[in-house]
Amino acid sequence: MGRLSGKVAIITGAASGMGRAAAKLFAQEGAKVVATDIALEPLEETVKAINESGGDAIALKLDVTSPESWQNVVDQAIAKYGKIDVLVNNAGIFIPKGILETDLDTWNKVLAVNTTGVWLGMKAVIPHMQRNGGGSIINTSSIAGIMGGPPDGGGAAYSASKGAVRSLTKHAAQWFAKDKIRVNSVHPGGIYTGMVKDAGFESYEAMVDYIKNFAPLPPHAGDPMDIAYAYLYLASDESRFVTGEELVVDAGWITR
Ligand code: NAD
Repeated sequence: MGRLSGKVAIITGAASGMGRAAAKLFAQEGAKVVATDIALEPLEETVKAINESGGDAIALKLDVTSPESWQNVVDQAIAKYGKIDVLVNNAGIFIPKGILETDLDTWNKVLAVNTTGVWLGMKAVIPHMQRNGGGSIINTSSIAGIMGGPPDGGGAAYSASKGAVRSLTKHAAQWFAKDKIRVNSVHPGGIYTGMVKDAGFESYEAMVDYIKNFAPLPPHAGDPMDIAYAYLYLASDESRFVTGEELVVDAGWITR
């Protein structure tokens, strides 16, 4: 018996980084995985690898900023697997511009993916979870949603978007507890993924070199699996008494 046996999980941003790690881990733990991303080709590779190693997953293109795109994913998930138990709102983008450098388009784009996308995902999935007698929603925030300075990499819109995810999570946890829907946020520290490569860290070692000044616990910079395991706990019934919580996974960064 896997830790997610019998559960159906939608994961956003599953073509890369933490979302891809979570899709693989959830499938290993017995979940049927609806893997979604705006980037279809790498997503299909993820799903092929899962199915070839005995898992059960489908790949669906999703732009988290689009209500129609969400509707399509939810319809297809229900058609294929009959229910939705878990939603991981993991997709996100990072643009390293401060308050003075950020233009309105950048601001709106970051908020659209990182915050509006999370709201739209919950709005699309919650009615099915209500009918199904419960569920678990995991929203990916960041330590940038809790503190300023280096954690946000200089991204003003990013920090704002992740702070909003933190409070929206608590709102949802309050309103849908009566339906046995748990809603928690995960707050990664520095994790070596496509996002940080794009932000200029050309190697894992370069990231460690920077982050060790802030996050005291070796290895200082994390692996996508470090976050996938946090998602797994919150997705499973092991966390049945946990809602509205913010799970920080950051090698001690926010203890500074
Ligand atoms: P990543 O860039 O490796 O993966 C993000 C995925 O989201 C990509 O596959 C991308 O195609 C997808 N995506 C982007 N826009 C989308 C859209 N409109 N619709 C659907 N999918 C879209 O990044 P990651 O580091 O794995 O990030 C996962 C989450 O973790 C993000 O929410 C990110 O903000 C958060 N986070 C990352 C770090 C870190 O250090 N890497 C730290 C804190 C929080």
